[in-house]
Amino acid sequence: MKLLKARALVLRSRPLGERDRLLSLLTLEHGKISAVAPGARKVKSKLAAGVDYFTCGSFLLYRGRSLYTVSQLEIEKSFRSIRMDIRAYAYGMYLAELTDKLLQEGEPYPEVFRLLLNCWSCLDENKADNELLGRFFELKILSLLGYHPHLKGCLYCGSTAGPFFWSNSSGGIFCEKCLPAEESVFPFSKGACSLAFSLLGMTPAKVSRIRASESQKKELKDFNHHFLQYWVEMSSFQGLAFLEKINP
Ligand SMILES: [Zn+2]
Repeated sequence: MKLLKARALVLRSRPLGERDRLLSLLTLEHGKISAVAPGARKVKSKLAAGVDYFTCGSFLLYRGRSLYTVSQLEIEKSFRSIRMDIRAYAYGMYLAELTDKLLQEGEPYPEVFRLLLNCWSCLDENKADNELLGRFFELKILSLLGYHPHLKGCLYCGSTAGPFFWSNSSGGIFCEKCLPAEESVFPFSKGACSLAFSLLGMTPAKVSRIRASESQKKELKDFNHHFLQYWVEMSSFQGLAFLEKINP
């Protein structure tokens, strides 16, 4: 029997049969893994408290034929304030869903682990604008996974004057003069583009210092989702659908 000790964040937790839960975990050491938490649906289970969204803990797992099984769990942090605030909850859940969808199993992503942990901490401490923190996370996770958007200036001539046109296939922006005729592009104002560029260079704690107008935030959301949609099916996110409902 192969035992594995890992520090992990719970990305997803769903019922499995009458007694168990099936978890998607992002471990610091081994990347994303699926694991069964036996008996975790029972109220008296020792595992029940630690297998919900927004848990960071130290897990002891053993490997079966196809899945890991949680043997022991020590909760490190459970982000209680996120659970009390409906918007923070929806954003936190969306960040976990996005991470779960974008990562492959069997590959370590320590920087993504730290990014998600730090963003959950910011949501928990209610330090930053939740919406900007969500946009920051979207840009950062894509960048960490190798899809870093080029937003410093026109890809062709380097002009920083704006307005710009974003191209998914080129992974960057063009100015009006250099816009390739055959590209399908997303118009991007200089202000929203600068906001995205600033967020990409930040740590989660610094997002609290950023101020943006409602129209810039709306434009950045449209841009990020246009960019994300190129890599992942956006309509499947429950956290995002819920956010649209409470804050259209
Ligand atoms: Zn240009």
